[in-house]
Amino acid sequence: MKIIDQGHEIISLPDNLLQVIETAGRTCYKSEDKITPDSAAGFVQRMRDRGHHAMIEFADIIVRFTTNRGVTHELVRHRLFSFAQESTRYVRYDGKMEFIRPCWWEDSSHEQRAIWETAMGETETRYLELLKSGWRPEQAREVLPNSLKTEIVVKGNIREWRHMFALRCSKKAHPQIRALMLPLLAKLQKRLPVVFDDLVF
Ligand SMILES: Cc1cc2nc3c(=O)[nH]c(=O)nc-3n(C[C@H](O)[C@H](O)[C@H](O)COP(=O)(O)OP(=O)(O)OC[C@H]3O[C@@H](n4cnc5c(N)ncnc54)[C@H](O)[C@@H]3O)c2cc1C
Repeated sequence: MKIIDQGHEIISLPDNLLQVIETAGRTCYKSEDKITPDSAAGFVQRMRDRGHHAMIEFADIIVRFTTNRGVTHELVRHRLFSFAQESTRYVRYDGKMEFIRPCWWEDSSHEQRAIWETAMGETETRYLELLKSGWRPEQAREVLPNSLKTEIVVKGNIREWRHMFALRCSKKAHPQIRALMLPLLAKLQKRLPVVFDDLVF
């Protein structure tokens, strides 16, 4: 058994993302003649601030998350995204099973950590026993817990990412998904301030 921290990796964030939005958006006003090498950021910010958010649907970002199964169950409720997730039907966890460290680990007592670790170890033992007995991974998975490590690739347009951050970075969100989303939002705010810098949680 191995305990790891959750995280993310941006797979695709095109350099010309703002320019693509501007090219599409200026069609509405037939103002393509106003496009300059520096005009995209201001244009996108105006679209954002006016609520003309259909224009920011023209740009996609793709992210790989390494997190737990509980969090991915929440992620896949966001219907307008595309997903590819590690399958507990096809992946055979007969190496070292990986579990995601709960983000409230530091605030937990020694006893609480020990209880969780025992439960994860027991899960792994029983899963391996079921494989050994002849159950296939898609059957033995019945004993796998929410803390199991999983990977999911998530693709969505910027409008949807903003919606994701609004819901999942909020203090009302589950702490594990909030802890996953806040560092991604911070990174995107640095890369694309005109798109994301108004989102404050
Ligand atoms: C704090 C919190 C607690 C939650 N608790 C629960 C819970 O206890 N049980 C539970 O089942 N879920 C729960 N959820 C999940 C929640 O119900 C949504 O499924 C999830 O947040 C995705 O939001 P969404 O539907 O707005 O997003 P998306 O599916 O990404 O949709 C984006 C937007 O598109 C529009 N849209 C999409 N589909 C339709 C449609 N069919 N009709 C009209 N408009 C549409 C809406 O404007 C929607 O906001 C919770 C979510 C949060 C953030």
